[in-house]
Amino acid sequence: MLSNMQKFFQQDKHYIMLESAVLLLLLIWLSSLLGIKIPAYAVYVDNEKAFVVKDPEQLNNLIDKKLTEEKKTSQKDVEFSNKLDFQRVFVGEREIIAAQELERNLAKYMQFETPGTAIIAEGKTIALVHDRKTAEQILNDLKREYAWVDEGEKLLGLGFAEKVQLKDIKVTAGDILDKDQAYQLIKTGTDNPEKYIVKSGDSLWLIARRNNMYVNDIVVANQLKSDKLDLGQELLLLKSKPYLNVLARVEGNKVEPIPFDIEVVVDKNASSGIRVKQDGQDGEKRVVYVATKNNGITSQREVKQETILKAAVKKIIVKGSKVTMVASRGGSGNLEWPAYGIITQYYRGASHTGIDIGAKSGSTIRAADSGYVSSAAYQGGYGRFITIDHNNGLVTRYAHCSSMNVSEGQSVTKGQVIGTVGSSGRSTGPHLHFEVISSGSFRNPLDYLR
Ligand SMILES: [Zn+2]
Repeated sequence: MLSNMQKFFQQDKHYIMLESAVLLLLLIWLSSLLGIKIPAYAVYVDNEKAFVVKDPEQLNNLIDKKLTEEKKTSQKDVEFSNKLDFQRVFVGEREIIAAQELERNLAKYMQFETPGTAIIAEGKTIALVHDRKTAEQILNDLKREYAWVDEGEKLLGLGFAEKVQLKDIKVTAGDILDKDQAYQLIKTGTDNPEKYIVKSGDSLWLIARRNNMYVNDIVVANQLKSDKLDLGQELLLLKSKPYLNVLARVEGNKVEPIPFDIEVVVDKNASSGIRVKQDGQDGEKRVVYVATKNNGITSQREVKQETILKAAVKKIIVKGSKVTMVASRGGSGNLEWPAYGIITQYYRGASHTGIDIGAKSGSTIRAADSGYVSSAAYQGGYGRFITIDHNNGLVTRYAHCSSMNVSEGQSVTKGQVIGTVGSSGRSTGPHLHFEVISSGSFRNPLDYLR
């Protein structure tokens, strides 16, 4: 009897439990129908609430799918690196993230990590790549790119100016660059902001030229409304600076020209005008040197030995006394930019004895310093070609002019217009080929331009 009673109560209890469960479900269904509250799961990514899902299984499936995808593209193990927690919540239907949105933004909410290699310069990570082999290839390619030597040169050594390290680490899958991207990034480097105070005589063009930048970059970086600058105005110059510099040490043994000197003789008895008494002729010398090139540009050159093979023959010009001329002043040694434009070719010693400044045809060419026009004539590959002797051991030369405003024997002042940019002679487009000769040797004009 007692057992029967117990049985009855147990049955009844079951019945009550079943009934309340149905009631609960009914309640949930009703509340969702009315848009009130339904059960869901709040997802915490690294202890921070990120979004709400209806079913944790849905998220786990998505993560699995994403991992498979990442593994396929990276061909490597990919890990999901965040800590995930679920908390049961009751929310309005609208608070639950839509399946599509979740899939689209999963990588934003969570991190997928994969093994990679960091390229580190001076302790700072400059690029992340897939593996050590890729990193080593990039470094080798960089070295190879700047390992070129001129004719008559031999490579002594090659290395980076910076302390470079490789480190295998776990990285966010999306941060890895492919080989070409990383290579370009290291070569272009970063924007290196520099403050510049406008000085008297400055113009946007001059500032851009001296810093090898585009005028437009300065305008944009400083939000300039016009190209008028005020004295003392502060400008921000964003210069691109490579992350790594390849230093190549070379030994050279080659024949270089000795440009001829010009002597001007004033003849009081001669009639007005200029007469060439003796034509000049370049000489030749054999030079043995050791040089260091930084990313392909000679930064240091030490002459070990110099043998003159053929002396230069000086050019002698006779000036009639009746020609009124300003006495030729010696130059200051500081050279002004002769034309405004971007450097399209750098100085490369014997293989390119000057710099090319790209500029519109017809734009002005100015004397880099005060001096004396020692020649202004058409000269083969140089086209219309002006040479100015600055009476201080420096000679500057201006090639491919479309027109020349000066003639042989004339004195010029620094900044004076001497001609216009063109493409005469052996040239593929309008530019000024500008050379600097010091004590008979070609120099990198960038070492002299102020
Ligand atoms: Zn050139």
